[in-house]
Amino acid sequence: MRLKDKVAIVTGADTGIGKGISICLAREGAAVTIDYRGDPQPADELVKQIESSGGRAMAVAGDVTKADDIDNLISQTCSSFGKLDIFINNAGIETKKPFLEMPLDVYEKTIAVDLTGPWLCSQKAAQQMVKQGHGGRIINISSVHEDITMPTNAAYCAAKGGLRMLMRTIAVELAPHKILVNNIAPGAIDTPMDAPLKEHPELMKELLSEIPLGRMGQPDEIGMMAVYLASDEAAYVTGQTFIIDGGMTRQSGSL
Ligand code: NAD
Repeated sequence: MRLKDKVAIVTGADTGIGKGISICLAREGAAVTIDYRGDPQPADELVKQIESSGGRAMAVAGDVTKADDIDNLISQTCSSFGKLDIFINNAGIETKKPFLEMPLDVYEKTIAVDLTGPWLCSQKAAQQMVKQGHGGRIINISSVHEDITMPTNAAYCAAKGGLRMLMRTIAVELAPHKILVNNIAPGAIDTPMDAPLKEHPELMKELLSEIPLGRMGQPDEIGMMAVYLASDEAAYVTGQTFIIDGGMTRQSGSL
């Protein structure tokens, strides 16, 4: 097991990519705190699923934009599992609207969840890791849109682009503490966030034509990169973005 005795928190972990990451981390031996917002049922079911495969997990409610919630997430994790080694900033939202019509409150909400949330969570996780004194890992789920444009999604692109420079900067600042910080940038992954696409076969066809591997990715294909970045195998890796997109950015030539 590559993460035996490690302890992780995954934000927005009750569905989609966060759920896939949590299952992969737990399968490799990590105890995982499943952060969720709203209805506790999906998170409770995920805990049961992990426990029934012999893993360790617990569900804790928390909004990544609220400092008190993040403090609670970290303190509950440390009191139940003894420490914090890995923090995965996964929670994210998007609202597509033409830039000319985008209301300020939509922009502000997107930045709050997708950029300020990871900033706040990373700071509090790093403070805990520094206190413990044996390093740690912070992994952000950004997007290919930390680099490439997406018309009608300017707030999301701004947040993910910001997340790239947040990661790069704090990777340098936290390196003396042996806290390694990296981003995973998914392309199109099959999750509830991309569900609207399935209702429009013509848009889905267009999307798939942009992906050399000809399919969407699965959440556990992001999860396995998170396992690598959280493991001892990645002890010399920090300040980088790892793109997992079925070749999409190569085909478009945008990177
Ligand atoms: P999803 O909508 O299935 O899951 C998002 C999760 O974030 C949910 O659990 C939701 O409750 C949670 N969340 C939202 N606001 C929150 C808040 N304030 N506090 C705590 N949790 C909150 O989406 P997903 O596709 O699984 O996306 C996960 C991450 O991956 C996001 O950061 C997203 O931007 C990124 N991403 C997704 C894709 C994709 O194609 N699905 C591609 C690139 C990047």
